[in-house]
Amino acid sequence: MGITIIWDHQVPVGLRLPVARRVEMILGMPVSNADAAALINGYHPERSQYDAAAILERVLLMKNRAGCTGPVLLIVTHDLFVGGCDFVFGLARPQTGCAVISTARLDNRFYGRPEDFNDLADRAAKEGSHELGHLFGLEHCTDRECVMFKPATLAELDRKKMALCPDCRRRLGKHST
Ligand SMILES: [Zn+2]
Ligand SMILES: [Zn+2]
Repeated sequence: MGITIIWDHQVPVGLRLPVARRVEMILGMPVSNADAAALINGYHPERSQYDAAAILERVLLMKNRAGCTGPVLLIVTHDLFVGGCDFVFGLARPQTGCAVISTARLDNRFYGRPEDFNDLADRAAKEGSHELGHLFGLEHCTDRECVMFKPATLAELDRKKMALCPDCRRRLGKHST
């Protein structure tokens, strides 16, 4: 059962293959790339952010329209929030097999630092694999270097390795076979 990454047109096209290859390495499953078939919804003008839960409903439409049977991850540039949080890097809904991440806060430029393509690709792969991990039934991990650790800050995200810890890897093996 392959993973599909759907890319919003605002995300630089050059990220597609590097991120897909990194996610394949982290999760050990094939990944294919597709174009987003719909505009991103859920904009809240008073926050200048997008409601990740509303976007996930749009992802489910894209998933059904594309006939994807495996899990689907949408990658956008729009800054995301969910009720009760200032922001989220991403969100997953295991019941529908849909997830979304944003590159907004994965980009050095958000923090006033020089742009770095490899940083952005690494972070998008870690956060994308994290949300996909939820779609495969994985929960948050207490190992700070594991992809399933929930980072509160960019520094915590950068501390994670490009890999699952042995426990999460074992659980993933059970869920994906
Ligand atoms: Zn999570
Ligand atoms: Zn873990």
